[in-house]
Parts: sequence; C-alpha cells; structure tokens
Amino acid sequence: MRQSLKIYTAGLLSFSLGFMACLAFMTVPLVPAAASPEDTPVIVIDAGHGGFDGGAEAADGTKEKDINLAIARKLAEEASDYEVEIVMTRDGDYGLYEESSATKKQDDLTARKKIMVESGAGLAVSIHLNSFPQDSSVYGAQVFYAPDEQQRTDVFTAEDMAESVQKSLEINISDGRERTSMKKNDVLLMKDPPCPFIMVDCGFFSCAVEAEKVKSAEYLSVLAAAVWQGINEKLCLPMKNHVPVIDSTNKEENMA
Ligand SMILES: [Zn+2]
Repeated sequence: MRQSLKIYTAGLLSFSLGFMACLAFMTVPLVPAAASPEDTPVIVIDAGHGGFDGGAEAADGTKEKDINLAIARKLAEEASDYEVEIVMTRDGDYGLYEESSATKKQDDLTARKKIMVESGAGLAVSIHLNSFPQDSSVYGAQVFYAPDEQQRTDVFTAEDMAESVQKSLEINISDGRERTSMKKNDVLLMKDPPCPFIMVDCGFFSCAVEAEKVKSAEYLSVLAAAVWQGINEKLCLPMKNHVPVIDSTNKEENMA
C-alpha cells in the first residue's frame, strides 16, 4: 500500500556555501515538468526495513529500522524548506505488505519500487545502516548507487549523486577515512530503478562506537544535513520563499 507524505515542517537548515555557489548558476529542473502535477521535483526517501523486518541489530538490541526512520525523517525535514516534494516510502514502524502475506519482504520491496515509479521521482534515496559482525573495527558511512537507472533527468547520474553525498559525509562527519561511492545492484530496489537511486549506509551497527553515535539525535541531525547538502550540491534546488532581510542594527538575517 502506498504511503506518502508531503512534509512542510520548517526545520533549521545550514545554509551551506555549496548551496550559495549553486545559486550563482542557473537552477535546473530535477525532472521533466510533466512528471509532477505541481511541476515540483519529487524525491523519494526510503527508510529501509520496518515492521516485521528490523534489519541489522546492535548489541543492545537497537534495531536498524528505527534508526533508518529517524534519519529519513530528519532528511525530509532538511529538504522541507526547499522547492521539492518529498515522498516517504514509510513514516512509521511498518512495512508495505499485508500481515497475511507469505511473501512479506518481496511485497514490501515491490511496493517501495512502485512508489518510486508512480511518484514520478527524479531521485530516490534509501537509508540504511551497515553491519559486519566478523570485524567490529569496520566503520564509516558508505554510499552506493544503482548503475542502470532509467533516467528521468539528464542533470546528473546516480554515480554523480552518490559521489557528492559521499564527499559531503566525508567533510561533515569526518570519520577520518576517504571512501568512494560504490555500484550496487544486488538488491531488488536497485535493479533498473525508474530514476537515479542511491543507498546511504549511514554507519556500521557492528562497530560499538558507531552504534552508540547513531542513537544520538544530534548526530543524526548532522548526518541528515550532510546527506542533504550532498544531494543539493547536485540539484541546486532553491529555498521556498527565501527572502533575506538584512537588519542593519543587528545584522541578523530573517527568513520571510
Ligand atoms: Zn538495511
């Protein structure tokens, strides 16, 4: 069942230098105008797992599905001040399947893909955590991209987008290691997606330090802001009704 949500919550946003640099150039549409009824670009944010499928589990029993949702919500909040429509594949602890189904996981992934197709999305971002119990010293965020999307935009490729998000995570999370984004097509969602698709593995649950970090709301805010910054470095989406007013007495910028 399709679950979608437009999110208009005003959030505090870091007005990045990258965004300002983007504004210096012409902004370009993310998707062809016909793709969305309101001619607004659409991004699908997919919080991985949910419901019966908890995903990876930390040593203390914290489930990946809950952290994924927290990050996805924060990412949607980051995007909410920009000229974009956000469609969440889920916004609660549930999966997209019928309880009576014998093929819940398959149904769930198929339903998520359907949302990507039917929303007319120009970009899909799936949020996950990683786990590698064989070596608990492995850590860090890693971005994957689907190599063979059916393009809905010629503005960027999934690889460009993944690399931009990876770099932003490197700069803003600064875990001390350089990484490059990687191709991935071994999961259903990443096989022939209708639009550029990236999967952000936001850290390793199997690493005690990182498992602790992702339980912090502040850390997740920084992480979500970094993901959004990486995305908008490529999209250059303008802010909604952003009218800066300079007050000469206190030099503060007010958002109209
Ligand atoms: Zn996962």
